Amino acid sequence: MHLQDILRFRPVPAAAVYFGLTRRCPLHCRHCSTESLMDSEQFPAKMFLRFAETFTPENRPELTLMSGGEALLRPGLVRDIADRARAVGSRSYVLSGLYFAQKPRIPKPVRAAIEAVDHFSASTDRFHEEEVPRAAVFRVLHELLDAGKDVSLQITGEGPDDPYLADITAAVRREFGERVPMLVVPLSPVGRAREWMATHPQAAYPATAAPCTLACWPVIGFNGQVTSCGNQDVMDGKVPLPAHLFLGHIARDDWDTVKRKALESPMVGAIRTYGPEYLAERFGGQESCDGYCQTCWKLSTTPGVKEGVQALTLLPSTIAVRDAVEKVSVDAGPLGFARRFGVPGYADLITLGDTPQPAAAGHRDASRQDLAWTG
Ligand code: SF4
Ligand code: SF4
Repeated sequence: MHLQDILRFRPVPAAAVYFGLTRRCPLHCRHCSTESLMDSEQFPAKMFLRFAETFTPENRPELTLMSGGEALLRPGLVRDIADRARAVGSRSYVLSGLYFAQKPRIPKPVRAAIEAVDHFSASTDRFHEEEVPRAAVFRVLHELLDAGKDVSLQITGEGPDDPYLADITAAVRREFGERVPMLVVPLSPVGRAREWMATHPQAAYPATAAPCTLACWPVIGFNGQVTSCGNQDVMDGKVPLPAHLFLGHIARDDWDTVKRKALESPMVGAIRTYGPEYLAERFGGQESCDGYCQTCWKLSTTPGVKEGVQALTLLPSTIAVRDAVEKVSVDAGPLGFARRFGVPGYADLITLGDTPQPAAAGHRDASRQDLAWTG
């Protein structure tokens, strides 16, 4: 499975589920969004596996994605979830910071976990390179490519002019030719990066509809809590859990329950269609000057918004707008997503090593199955 086969589903609601298998990690990257340490939280494997076992051939996500912390600190769990996903027709992916890369060979349990998934992605960037040298990352990728594995790199940079991005992407192409696709994303002031990264307060501006594509895939946190987007401040409890972003808990809910809530919640659907700032201004009478996600967090507690969104959802025109917004995002394809959410000048690198594929439109309908949007 190529990187583009994952990104083409990014705008499709409930087409994928993201497992945060552990918060633990032996590395100490200065930009770590999860502020991971070796003594960070880790919950029992059976809780995650139980949820994966609620997937069925008729009702499962197209994609099962795993990350951490360092997901490959739990190679047996990664393998078990990947095996379960494959048995019901879901394809799997794991993202790793390559804590094991300085060993001469990939450790056997880790290798078995990587073999079990359909796509392996490694994080590398200026901060990871302080922990894991570039040469070690390249050695692991060579080992996997030689074995026929589909791999990619996820690279974080400080914007289009960051000289590191030009350097690392050129180095990858020199080393691997066109064989390793790269998703280049901007660094966010989240987690450890918040401590040192300059933030630029947004000026107040009139709210326009700016759909949130990130509210499409349910994200399972380290503690089993499922939210609409996996916003790190929400997952960490740094802000009170906004009621509209909570989709359930994997200790008690199954995939069908989580999927239905992701698809049927009027507020989540409206965030995907119109974006939080438009909803806050239209129904809450508030100018959105706090920031995009900060505005979203307050939607459940802003007087008038919940009722306004409920009424909006019942309008026939809303369904037409929702479908049009979704179609535009799906038709934009993986490149459209990489240009919007990645560093645009590097978006084309996601296509390396791939052949053109049709859009995910058919899967968009399949993911909804017989569900109505209004719940
Ligand atoms: S490898 Fe990932 S999880 Fe580990 S410290 Fe670095 S950014 Fe955090
Ligand atoms: S706008 Fe809301 S749903 Fe979208 S990423 Fe931010 S917090 Fe998540």
